[in-house]
Amino acid sequence: MKFYNLNFHKENKNFSQVLKIGLGKNQGLFFPMNLPKLNNKIIQDLLDLNFIDRSSYIISLFLNEKEILLETLKTKIQKAFNFPLLLKLIDKNIACLELFYGPTLAFKDFGVRFMAQMLNFFNKKSKIIILTATSGDTGAAVAHAFYNMKNIEVIILYPYKKISILQEKLFCTLGDNIKTIAIKGNFDDCQKLIKQVLNDKELKKELCLNSANSINISRLIAQICYYFEAYAQIPLNQRKKKIIISVPSGNFGNLTAGLIAKTIGLPIYKFIAATNINDTIPRYLKKGYWKPKKTISTLSNAMDVSIPNNWPRVIEIFNKNNWNLKKLESNSITDIQTTETIKNVYNKYKYILEPHSAVSFCALKSQIFKKDTFNIFLGTAHPAKFQDYIYNTLNQKIILPSILINCMKKKNLSHILSNNFSNLKEFLIKNYII
Ligand SMILES: *Cc1c(COP(=O)(O)O)cnc(C)c1O
Repeated sequence: MKFYNLNFHKENKNFSQVLKIGLGKNQGLFFPMNLPKLNNKIIQDLLDLNFIDRSSYIISLFLNEKEILLETLKTKIQKAFNFPLLLKLIDKNIACLELFYGPTLAFKDFGVRFMAQMLNFFNKKSKIIILTATSGDTGAAVAHAFYNMKNIEVIILYPYKKISILQEKLFCTLGDNIKTIAIKGNFDDCQKLIKQVLNDKELKKELCLNSANSINISRLIAQICYYFEAYAQIPLNQRKKKIIISVPSGNFGNLTAGLIAKTIGLPIYKFIAATNINDTIPRYLKKGYWKPKKTISTLSNAMDVSIPNNWPRVIEIFNKNNWNLKKLESNSITDIQTTETIKNVYNKYKYILEPHSAVSFCALKSQIFKKDTFNIFLGTAHPAKFQDYIYNTLNQKIILPSILINCMKKKNLSHILSNNFSNLKEFLIKNYII
């Protein structure tokens, strides 16, 4: 399969190329050229396969056999998806797709670990440097996915003293090929610095730089797989109902993957795009004008985005399928609603949500009372990541998974730098150009 640039249609590339460059000319996102439409029989056969075999088939649709053999691809997918995922029923017609059993306890492990396996496979010669800015989840996923890979160096920037100690320990204690830098500024400053590095002529000439952000199509391709797994785990007596999936959204990569799954034939009736109070998309869909506001900090902080970078891909999917964008339901949820939802769901079902999953649950709204629907909301992070907040809200102690306990004991290896490009450049030259 080829991928074309949404801002420059003449630019076509295959998977291994878009994997390495991320963005195309004119800052354009890549999009699959011919999304296949699988018939019912194939979909049913796929649903009978196990997660790894099914995922290998789905992902192989996007690659060429010439680029990577199916058998090799399968071993890479096995390494990337080496943890379980569960569709947890909390009522007859409501389930949480629990995507948080990976090494960093958030769904980002799926996409980033697949990307890491692919980059490691397709890049055997030169040394690549992966640069990422993080406000938490992405940095941890990137650090663990690339840890110990030869020929790949990772640099992660994050805002000094602005992320929780638990989050920090999860990715700043690894060492080896993973360097972490606390920047005395906020998340936007970190992102700005990365852009400056990626655009610096001298650094570009000396270093092979890449960013692992959700603009990279490889991450989205991996995420298609868990929508199929969700469907495969729906109880048989519920499958005839309308399947509704609520996706807690920030940059809208997760939703894009779900919409691609539907495009290639997975029978999902409807998606709901759930956001927190950063509501650019719900307002756009209701009122028809694009007016991002300043980003506001919320409890579901991984979704604090006001200009979602995958939105052009969502639009492309609707256009190509001749779907009406008005049919995309999108609900914005406040922090007060988020906390109320966590309390209500615990009282009613004895199920503990964290803020991101609570936003996706709450956005289902009246759907759950309809008898002809089966409702899935995505659980994107493990509640243990929000231990203190949950203790204050529910008076419940959460047992920390062993990975968190282990890294809490380790030393933080981060460097601290001021919010200043020339300092960062000096650091890169000193450490990577000899
Ligand atoms: C990144 C993230 C999201 C948002 O996903 P997008 O693909 O950016 O829309 C939701 N929840 C959690 C826990 C995340 O880390």
